[in-house]
Amino acid sequence: NADLALFRAKESGRGNLHLYAPDEGLMERVLNRVYWVDKIEQALADDQFELYFQPILSLSDNKVSHYEALVRMHNPTGDLFMPIEFIGVAETTGLIRGIDRLVLHKAIAALAELQLKTPNSKLSVNLSGRSFSNPRWLELLQDELNSSGINPSGLIFEITETAAVEDMASARALMEKVIALGCAFSLDDFGVGFASFDYLKQLPVEYVKIDGSFIRNLATSTDDQLFVKALVQAAHGFGKKTVAEFVENAEIVQLLRDYGVDYAQGYHIGKPDPVFGLIARRDIG
Ligand code: C2E
Ligand code: MG
Ligand code: MG
Ligand code: MG
Repeated sequence: NADLALFRAKESGRGNLHLYAPDEGLMERVLNRVYWVDKIEQALADDQFELYFQPILSLSDNKVSHYEALVRMHNPTGDLFMPIEFIGVAETTGLIRGIDRLVLHKAIAALAELQLKTPNSKLSVNLSGRSFSNPRWLELLQDELNSSGINPSGLIFEITETAAVEDMASARALMEKVIALGCAFSLDDFGVGFASFDYLKQLPVEYVKIDGSFIRNLATSTDDQLFVKALVQAAHGFGKKTVAEFVENAEIVQLLRDYGVDYAQGYHIGKPDPVFGLIARRDIG
């Protein structure tokens, strides 16, 4: 059992690691987990997490509608780690709750600053299912909203359908409470995982983000074109706005416009950047 081995490994301290794993693959995975758990705990303690901000363009008026906050982890020797390296371990160990708490605090602080200059600024923040199913998260959000004084309608939470479907009834109930506070939701990475139009209908989300895997090859893949068209129709039918991720060139922007997609996000629009609110308008395709 990998979890048991992990705890034994942690208990015995770094210098004397006594692990007995039946295969090398398992051994490697356990050691890898210990390595990352240690790094994440250290970064949480030393405030080594930083937010980058990526613009989301409204295709109807070529203006940046809002930004997505994307977390990065530093270490004392100057390395920068991407979420793909540490979010998985953080999710399985529960450390993600600490990351999400920190991200929420930093995101709200950044939004407060930007709203002073531009009152209707919006920021979308990723939220793990682990945080989402924690009843204390709502209290935390309320506290953060109260102490910051931001306009809550500037805050959008990106959740995945996997997070929501584990317990649809309580997910919906929590979402309604968050919406009552003034915030909104976006369904992230739609199309992978459970990908049911029924969830799309049932979840009170304002935005649906079409997973980047369907966007990336949109110019050449007729399957992806069919999927995106159908999804846009369904989403609009349910009164939701669509966002395409991984928009990497002008040809894709043109197709998205043809299909009536509402927003575009990707390297062609703007890369994630530590400065928030830099771009106001892009003249793109
Ligand atoms: P996501 O929420 O689907 O975010 C989109 C990811 O795609 C980001 O990766 C972004 O940098 C990347 N991306 C954006 N445009 C393009 C493009 O044109 N081409 C390509 N190839 N990639 C693009 P990133 O920042 O590495 O984040 C990966 C995932 O980690 C996110 O996927 C999200 O699920 C998770 N994540 C990021 N920040 C947080 C956070 O603060 N809390 C939680 N719980 N999860 C986070
Ligand atoms: Mg996201
Ligand atoms: Mg996404
Ligand atoms: Mg994604």
